[in-house]
Order: sequence, then structure tokens, then C-alpha cells
Amino acid sequence: MKSYIPVIGLEIHAELKTKTKMFCSCENGYKLFDKPNENICPVCMGHPGMLPVINRQAIEWTLLTGLALNMQIAKVTKFDRKNYFYPDLPKGYQISQYDQPLTHSGVLKIGKREIGIIRIHLEEDTGKLAHVGGGSLVDLSRAGTPLMELVTEPSIESSQEAKEFCQMYQQILRYLEISDADMEKGQMRCEANVSIQEAGRFIIDGPEVKSILDYELNPKVELKNINSFRAMERAIEYEIKRQTNALNAGEKLVQETRGWDDSKQSTFSQRIKETAADYRYFPEPDLPPLEIDDELITRLKATLPELPPAKLERFVNQFQFEVETAKILIADKDLASYAENVISEMGDWLNSIPETEGTAEEIWAKEGKKMSRLAGNWLVNQLLKHLNEQKTTIKDCKITPENFGEFLTLIYQNKINNTTAQQILEEMFNTGTSPISIMEEKNLGLVDNAEELEATIEKILAENPKAIEDFKAGKENAFKFLTGQAMKETKSKASPQMINDILQKKLNA
Ligand code: ADP
Ligand code: MG
Ligand code: ZN
Repeated sequence: MKSYIPVIGLEIHAELKTKTKMFCSCENGYKLFDKPNENICPVCMGHPGMLPVINRQAIEWTLLTGLALNMQIAKVTKFDRKNYFYPDLPKGYQISQYDQPLTHSGVLKIGKREIGIIRIHLEEDTGKLAHVGGGSLVDLSRAGTPLMELVTEPSIESSQEAKEFCQMYQQILRYLEISDADMEKGQMRCEANVSIQEAGRFIIDGPEVKSILDYELNPKVELKNINSFRAMERAIEYEIKRQTNALNAGEKLVQETRGWDDSKQSTFSQRIKETAADYRYFPEPDLPPLEIDDELITRLKATLPELPPAKLERFVNQFQFEVETAKILIADKDLASYAENVISEMGDWLNSIPETEGTAEEIWAKEGKKMSRLAGNWLVNQLLKHLNEQKTTIKDCKITPENFGEFLTLIYQNKINNTTAQQILEEMFNTGTSPISIMEEKNLGLVDNAEELEATIEKILAENPKAIEDFKAGKENAFKFLTGQAMKETKSKASPQMINDILQKKLNA
């Protein structure tokens, strides 16, 4: 049997959250209206004679995205009409960009691989159809929403990589605060082009897949209806299997558009694919070409925040977080800056404690890994759990980074153990109180007074002569039993290490 290699390219649409629509002054936010067709005007309804006006914000945000992805910015850009007929497209054409997109030729790093981006252009969204009782209803409230389309080179090699690309792009859009990019709400829509080719008989040359010698390329399938990252992964997996099986059975594949059926977990043919020629693209006569000056680009560049790929690298290198922890922390811009503040507060706390020696930098250099493991663990495993359970976000979290840093410092210094730390965190989460006050108020601090602990242990030994006998007879469990008794007596507030030391000393005396 021949061995096939998956060849995947993505087309990703994202709705921009500008104040108004792409070419008219209607509010952009069709979801704010509960009845259909409330958010429309003659321009977005496509009435004859109406003139579109370009939304400057949408242009700037598309350029900003281009800069974020290291794209080339067009000197001159223009809009084109893409002609086709569908009931959700009132004008009979969509204003889009064909041969002079706003940006082209960029790259996004996914793991160690660089995925080429062919272009990002701007267009307008269509209306929505609702199929009810044998008929179809048209809602034009969404028509004219600014829609940014990104197209990758066919250099993605697996469903996992495709998913990671979409996730990273979503994070970038959110960091730039230009789109909420929620897939379930249709604010970000990912389509995957998938083909399989015989190993060694093709090359990927920029935007194109080319055959070597007499090899005949297998056609690609465009996958639609993908509503989540998970669906994207599954749909691509399914398609690779389907195409492989078909070729192995001697069938010929056709270039087509297929839909993903989430309930059946399979794809179905929607239509045999049209080509660019079918759309009869031509320049939009009602909009002038735009010249993009360097000054605008310089100004936009200056507003770029640190982006997820760079932040991920910094979190791993500077803060020594584990990659998986860093990935979770940077996924949300607010969470990332919270984590960064916590780390810095923790440094301040440690610095302020008489027992620790050296400056914050010296402590970090020595203990950094241990501290970031501790911070990462409590942020990702505990704080996020509370946030998810309460269906709230880090923005509304009552725990200040300062208090969280202090909390971590208490654990770091063994002032509280795991069990009491959980209790304290929960209280902090609910009330926003500082960990020290909770610890003192509820008497949750560890018993670190050796004399007090010795007295407790002596009492336990006096009450359990049988256990002492068992221990002397070499029964391991007796030691565990006595440790358990001591933990119980101190309400789990003593350090297990201290209990262990004192018990050893007394029993072996
Ligand atoms: P179309 O005109 O059908 O939209 P394009 O050449 O513009 O096709 O490419 C659209 C998408 O398909 C791009 O993401 C591109 O990377 C991808 N693509 C192109 N050729 C292939 C192929 N042979 N297999 C898989 N994907 C491909
Ligand atoms: Mg296409
Ligand atoms: Zn309008």
C-alpha cells in the first residue's frame, strides 16, 4: 500500500468588533438585537444606488493583525466584488479583496514549525438564513459585519497542528482586542482544506502544492461547519482516513466542499467546488483604492502588545514555568498579567522576610524553579478551578496578586501545609481577605513550636503503649499510626517533617 502525507491549509474568518459595520453606519453587534432585521439600513440591505463607505477602524485592525503575524503590508490595496447568488447576500455580490489584499506573506510559529500565511484580507459578512417549516427566513442584521479572512499555505501536516494554529490565532486576536473570536458564536470560523499526497512525489512551494514529474496530485476537500477546536481536529482526522480508504480501494477523489456533521462525527458532500473564475471578481467601482502610508504603520506597530508566542517564550525562559503551565497561563491576556504580578509580588514578600537572605534577584536565581512550580501549580490547578466553578474570570477575582503572592510565600516557608492552604485559598477567593488574617483568625498556622509539639507527642506516646511495643518489634505501621495520631491531635497543622523527627528521636531514645 502507498504511504500518504496529509496536506492541510486553513482559511479562517474572524468578525471584527468595530463600533459600526464595514461599509455603513449600522451598529456592529447583531447579537444585541433580539428580533431579526432590526439592525439594517439601505446600504447593508443592498438597495440600488446606495454608496458604501470604508470603516477606517477595520482597516487599521487588519493591518495590526498583519503586523502581529510579520506580514507584508500592501502599499496600495483595493476592494473587489465577488459575484455569486445566495439569499443571504442581498447585493448579489460580496465586497471582498482579490488581488491586492491589505497584507500578504507572513508566518506564525507553532511549536518548532513555521506555518506560512498567504494573506489576510478584509470583506463583509453575509446575513443569516433560518430554515423553518419547509421554508427559509432571511435575517440581514449580520450582513455587512467586518470580516477578516486569513489564508495559510498548505504546509500544515496534522490535525493537531491545525488546531494549535487556530488556537494561537484566536489568542492573538484576543490580545489585540479586535475580535472576541468565539467559535461557538460564529465570531471565528475555521475551514480546513485537506488532501493527501504520495510521499516523495510532491513539494510545497509557498502557496502551492506541486507535483514532481508525472505524479498526479490528489484533489483537496474544503471542510466547513466546524464549530469548535475539537470538531476541527476530528473533521480533519476523519477526512484523512476517508481519503486514504478511498484511494486504497482504487476510487478517484473529487475536489469538493464537505460539511462536518458533529452528531454523526463524519463529513458529507455539500457541493463540487467552484473556482475563482466562477466568481467573476472585478474591482469595486464605488470604492477608491487605498494608499497605506508608512506613518500609519509606524503608529500601529507602536501599539502592538507583547503577543502570545513571545510571552510563552518569556514565561518559560524568564519565569521558568513548565511549557504546559505557561501555555495555560498565556492563553488569556488577563490571566497572564495576573500571573506575572503574582510572581513579582512573591519576590517582594520573600525579600521582606528576615529569614531569607539576599536580594529578590538572588533568591530567584537560587530558588526560581521551585517558586515558579509552586506558583504555576496553585494558579493553574487551584485558582483556575475556583474561577471555573464560580463561572467567573480573573478580572473579577477578589484575590489581589499581592495577597496571592503572600499566600504562596506562606506555603514556600512551610508556614501552612497543603490542607490548610486549600482552606485559606477558598476563604481568600470568597472574601478577598489577606491570607495572614485568615490564618490568624482561624488559627490555621502550622504548629512550628517544637516544645509544644514535643508535649503533644509525649502525650500520644503515653496513651499508646501498644504502638510503641509494635514499633520496637519492627512493625512499620506502628510508626505511621503514631504520625497519624499526631496529625489528628494538631488538626493537620504541624509539619509532617517535624512530627517525624520528634517521633524518631523519642522512639529510638
Ligand atoms: P481555492 O481557490 O479553492 O480557495 P486556494 O489555492 O486559494 O484554493 O487555497 C485555499 C486553501 O487551500 C489555502 O489554505 C491553501 O493552503 C489550501 N490548499 C491549496 N492546495 C491544497 C492542497 N493540494 N491540499 C490541501 N490544501 C490545499
Ligand atoms: Mg477558498
Ligand atoms: Zn447598514
